Amino acid sequence: MTKEIVVKASPKYISQFQKGFPLLNKENVTTSIQNIQDGDILKLVDTHNRFIAKGYFGIQNKGIGWLLSWKEQEDIDQAFIHKKIQAAINQRLHFFYSEDTTAFRVFNGEGDGFGGLTIDYFDGYYLIQWYSRGAYSFHEEVMTSLRELTDFKGIYQKKRFAQEGKYVEEDDFVEGTRPSFPLLVKENGVQFAIYLNDGAMVGVFLDQREVRKRIRDEYSKDKRVLNTFSYTGAFSVFAALGGAIETTSVDLANRSLSKTIEQFSINGIDYEAQNIIVEDVFKYFKYAVKKELSFDLVILDPPSFARSKKHTFSAAKDYKDLLKEAIAITEKNGTIVASTNCSTFNMKKFKGFIETAFKESNGKYKILEEYTLPEDFKTLSQYKQSDYLKVAFIRKL
Ligand code: SAH
Repeated sequence: MTKEIVVKASPKYISQFQKGFPLLNKENVTTSIQNIQDGDILKLVDTHNRFIAKGYFGIQNKGIGWLLSWKEQEDIDQAFIHKKIQAAINQRLHFFYSEDTTAFRVFNGEGDGFGGLTIDYFDGYYLIQWYSRGAYSFHEEVMTSLRELTDFKGIYQKKRFAQEGKYVEEDDFVEGTRPSFPLLVKENGVQFAIYLNDGAMVGVFLDQREVRKRIRDEYSKDKRVLNTFSYTGAFSVFAALGGAIETTSVDLANRSLSKTIEQFSINGIDYEAQNIIVEDVFKYFKYAVKKELSFDLVILDPPSFARSKKHTFSAAKDYKDLLKEAIAITEKNGTIVASTNCSTFNMKKFKGFIETAFKESNGKYKILEEYTLPEDFKTLSQYKQSDYLKVAFIRKL
């Protein structure tokens, strides 16, 4: 049995941990964490030294470690990790068998019983993401499990622990074969160009799968579409395939131009018939108002926090104003797809931003539908923050 370091829970957090809350914060324990090493196994006890749960130490942008088991006899070892990954795979068999979707999340951190670790699937290639040095200390166990449970073509990894969740720049190949990039994967029949070896972002955010499908199938036909914070233009591609008259993609990053051209091209769409604009979204809104442009469908998918030359955008503070800019250039009876991955506020608060934005714009609206994370991004009901995605389809009346 591995050595377990005993840490004592602060009295007021005991019941939350007993109920299965998985994230350990510095403020939650009374024991000094100074001499604890990343990857050490922790045994969390109550005031009377009674067992609550066990987990591992790993300093992350959030917290100092994750609780993994509420059974005192259970060891955190190869067999434990194997079992967790096996259960996760078994819950996603329909994705593995799908012919028109070949990219999805196989393992979603604490939702699948191991916080600090995610595994994505891209047509036979697996991408492991480690969110702390502590999580990474289990890489042998995770690799062994993947060798036993899958017939992967190749494995890549991202170490997201340079500091505060930042990505460690390195060649991310681990084992197997290297595909030639871009690796082409499919989502509901649509192609994505994926780069597993080119920095922190691989080309697509898998958690928006249902939203993209909805936009293609129900909201795009004969519409003029504006996609802001567009990255590789994934929403624009789905809109174009859904019959949009024209799409306009706006992103500040230079890379977005070539990546969006590529994304359209691999789906047989003439990118020259689409607008791809490399610019600050806030500047674009001003331009659009001046030129009296308006759109039938406006997609807002900003990062939770971003700093550009002129602007600092924080979703928690500025989403309402972003919505007002969008409302001003959306046609009557048009739709705004408002999305955020900010975990510091919930859907209720998000709807509050929507309410205030329309009120301040003297407009009326109706929320047509809402989305949160898809099923492969499994979350824990005891840990609401992990259900970070909030998407509202809003009709401007
Ligand atoms: N909606 C995208 C993902 C967005 S990722 C998708 O579905 O794939 C966030 C993007 O916002 C990044 O590509 C980043 O370059 C861009 N970004 C951040 N601040 C911006 C700004 N002020 N104006 C335009 N783009 C911005």
